[in-house]
Amino acid sequence: MQIAEIAKAVHAENDISRWADVEVSSVAFDSRHLSQGALFVPLKGERDGHEFVNSAFENGASATLWGDDHEYPDDDRPRIVVADPLKALQALGKYYLHKINPIVVAISGSNGKTTTKDMVASILSTQFNVTKTHANFNNEIGVPVTLLNMSSNTEAVVVEMGMSNFGQLDALSKLVTPDIAVLTMIGEAHIEFFGTRDRIADAKMEITHGLSEDGTFIYNGDEPLLRERAAKVQQVKETFGRELNNDLYATSVSQGEDHIDFSVNQWPDLKFTIPMIGEYNVNNAMAAMLVGQKLHITPEHMQQGLAHVQLTENRSEWLKGSQGEKILSDVYNSNPTAVREVLTTLNELPDKGRRLIVLGDMLELGKASPELHASLANSIDDDHFQEVYLVGPQMQVLYDQLKDDGYPVDHLHYYETDQKDQLVADLKAAIQPGDIVMLKGSHGIHLENVRAQLTAK
Ligand code: ATP
Ligand code: MG
Repeated sequence: MQIAEIAKAVHAENDISRWADVEVSSVAFDSRHLSQGALFVPLKGERDGHEFVNSAFENGASATLWGDDHEYPDDDRPRIVVADPLKALQALGKYYLHKINPIVVAISGSNGKTTTKDMVASILSTQFNVTKTHANFNNEIGVPVTLLNMSSNTEAVVVEMGMSNFGQLDALSKLVTPDIAVLTMIGEAHIEFFGTRDRIADAKMEITHGLSEDGTFIYNGDEPLLRERAAKVQQVKETFGRELNNDLYATSVSQGEDHIDFSVNQWPDLKFTIPMIGEYNVNNAMAAMLVGQKLHITPEHMQQGLAHVQLTENRSEWLKGSQGEKILSDVYNSNPTAVREVLTTLNELPDKGRRLIVLGDMLELGKASPELHASLANSIDDDHFQEVYLVGPQMQVLYDQLKDDGYPVDHLHYYETDQKDQLVADLKAAIQPGDIVMLKGSHGIHLENVRAQLTAK
């Protein structure tokens, strides 16, 4: 786009005529990472983005947005003056979306957004030119950036949307006006702020606020909170889940060492494979299949798309430990639903090795935190998990609960967050070849340090 077009889309306040035909080829808000010809967007973070405008131009930006509450520099670098650069970025994203006019799929949910986004993109890529959210750019900045990253031949855009407050999905949904909106599930993420799962469900339902009139709402039908609320949605609705009253449900699931095979009710003769473990991923896949079906992708193409899905960042990864153990590492986020899912996954693996589990605190759970930590005790027993290592102040509650429930104390270990060296030493002493070691905790606990020490040669 040329500056003249951008200035019009964002209602520029200054006279841009002398730069009217300057070309802009991308947008960036980090002056250190921008490509030649980018439009720099100075946003307010810990520091004011306007401080980095010079560096953006030095690194190749061809123009910048400029907040009208900042004094203009005395130079002739192309700038587009606006009341609020973030709002201008969003307006530009919306303008560009209308110009390219692709099919829009919006995805939210407490867990599984990125995975589902990747699956949808992979399925749709068998038939369309697809752009998807890069990495985890799912907020009020990331969503317009995703839109502006579309090449001019994009036919479908798959947009991940996150939220931590009311009003956020409302705004994002109205920004992208999805043809298809997907909610993967309701968990306990951000319960610290929301207080109840009901309120989380209310906030998540905002994804339907911008849904086009002839659009489709796809959601997890096993979640009563969503079923209740979906009744008020006028658009077409489709559900997926484990229960048989869903439009799409799995009729068989079999978990291999690094993949899952499953069948579904709608195409009983076909076997689908996803290159990842964790039964919850079958739900993510079914959500993606409903999107594919809506857009007339054949089941055979869905098979291909799912089998070859490119995961954005494989957060849950299998590694080889230095003592012949297998490590399932999932150290970037944690919450009660996700931990229970991973424990179930471990139980269902065909592998017969001992299971040693390392669980770090689940952060941001607010008042309910002790109770939610303690609740994991129901999913842990010494038949299935032969050693349990708990790390972080909140895990103390789970330690006490497991002890009360009769988990053998010789096999139950507790560490403060700064005692990871001791944890690693104890783990190394316990590990035997063939064991499976699972690491899961919120990123703030930094179990990646433990992972690094277990995998070091
Ligand atoms: P974020 O909020 O960090 O962007 P996300 O919603 O994008 O997360 P993913 O990155 O797809 O989620 O998955 C993160 C973790 O959530 C997985 O490693 C797994 O533990 C858990 N998870 C994924 N999908 C589901 C699901 N459908 N149900 C329950 N847990 C899930
Ligand atoms: Mg994500």
